[in-house]
Amino acid sequence: MTADDQARLDRRLLMLPATPKDGAMTRDVLWRAGIETEICESVRMVAAEVQRGAAAVILPEEAIGSASRVLALVIAQQAPWSDLPVLVLTRQGADSADASLAVSALGNVTLLERPLRVSTFVSTVRTALRARERQYQIRRQLEELRDADQRKDEFLATLGHELRNPLSPLLTSLELLKPSATAEPTLSRLVGVMQRQATHLVRLVDDLLEVSRITRGLIEVQRDPVELAEILAAAAETSRPVIEASEHRLIVDVPDEPLIVLGDSVRLTQVFANLLNNAAKYTDPGGTIELLVRHTRHTAFVSVRDNGIGIEREHLSSVFDMFTQVSRSDRRTQGGLGIGLTLVRSLVALHGGSVTASSEGRGRGSTFEVRLPLAVVETHPSPAPSVHKGFAGCRVLVVDDNQDATETMQTLLESLGATVAAAGNGREALAQFEAFEPNAVLLDIGMPGMDGYEVARRIRKLPAGAATPLIAVTGWGQQEDIRRCFDAGFDHHLVKPVDVDRLWELIVGGAGQTIN
Ligand code: ADP
Repeated sequence: MTADDQARLDRRLLMLPATPKDGAMTRDVLWRAGIETEICESVRMVAAEVQRGAAAVILPEEAIGSASRVLALVIAQQAPWSDLPVLVLTRQGADSADASLAVSALGNVTLLERPLRVSTFVSTVRTALRARERQYQIRRQLEELRDADQRKDEFLATLGHELRNPLSPLLTSLELLKPSATAEPTLSRLVGVMQRQATHLVRLVDDLLEVSRITRGLIEVQRDPVELAEILAAAAETSRPVIEASEHRLIVDVPDEPLIVLGDSVRLTQVFANLLNNAAKYTDPGGTIELLVRHTRHTAFVSVRDNGIGIEREHLSSVFDMFTQVSRSDRRTQGGLGIGLTLVRSLVALHGGSVTASSEGRGRGSTFEVRLPLAVVETHPSPAPSVHKGFAGCRVLVVDDNQDATETMQTLLESLGATVAAAGNGREALAQFEAFEPNAVLLDIGMPGMDGYEVARRIRKLPAGAATPLIAVTGWGQQEDIRRCFDAGFDHHLVKPVDVDRLWELIVGGAGQTIN
């Protein structure tokens, strides 16, 4: 159905007359006032037509009764913007049982007592149609807002992806500069500053990407049995630099018995690290932060409490909304985007839990409590962390159309003992693969001409390519991209910027198929 067809349906005034004669007469009166009516033969028909679209409905009181239940149902299911006007023509003395049933069941009801002056009737119908027109305007605005919101989400995803690409060679270059900078204190300090700032940028970009994935429903969390105490220890470790920088005291009170959550350890660590970081950030130096766990048989309650600036009551619920910062002028909110708590709430919800904020008010500290369902499962011992021992003896082919990215990766791997060949596009990559015979390939996905998926497929068809580890190195880390990578024959999927220890695990340490 075209938009015009729908608009025509939406403008209809539906009428169920008491008698055919009544119908003809009323239609005539309205027609003379320039209003068209569509006659329905039963309440059931009115209900069906309302579902297709209607501006208002005229019913006689006689039609209200058990048959009107179906219409009441349709009206109850209206979209939130919709409040269909229903005009009920009553018999004299509008306090009958049917009239009050109509008022309670049919929503936006106007009772009109017969006999009725024509002018009153026409003006009431006009008012109803006008009110309906306003509702359609609101519907249009809501649709526009939804479209704009969707475009914003898509923009954030693209922005995040595009920002990641230049960050990758920047960080790798800084890593390379570090050893030669140690002899020169000023240079070493500057490299340190650049590394910290670039890492901060990576974190902001990651948050942006994450939040845009969540809003577009693209995030999936793993459901592995994980021990809560381990997650909290990892989160405390992540936040330690921020807590120590402000000389806060961190008090941890976690029960001895193992509490198992079915979840994604990386995501859950992110949740608690975010809360601890905020506690550190929004508390004046020398404060106290407490990380406490209570539990029942089925639920764990993790509280992150601080004695910092606190949150006023009216802001308590909105702090979880996207881009919300209680006081933008506060120096402390700078360096953030107001999406940390949005991420916390979404990630906790993906684990079947919830999070609440409480505070006695300004200057009285804040408490964030996360509730997570507990599982009763055996834990598996976690694998020992790998020790990075260099890439001596490895022949690595690096493929990326971004020359800075290939060059810095090549220099980094060479400085760690690998022999490296580089290619800037798909064709070169295939030629190099045969000439160089690498024992691992790092392959960018988004390249002009032949993309990384196609290169992987073609390498897999070469006699020497069947068993060579193929590692996708991309800016895109969504489930769909990862699935496409594995379908194309990749063994591993890494998101830029690549962590060199992780790369070592994959190339030298012999890890199985992984996503990172
Ligand atoms: P950001 O910290 O990047 O501004 P968040 O989403 O993490 O974004 O937090 C949103 C807002 O909630 C912050 O700007 C701050 O005003 C408030 N807030 C968060 N945590 C605390 C806390 N522990 N104490 C006081 N205010 C807080």
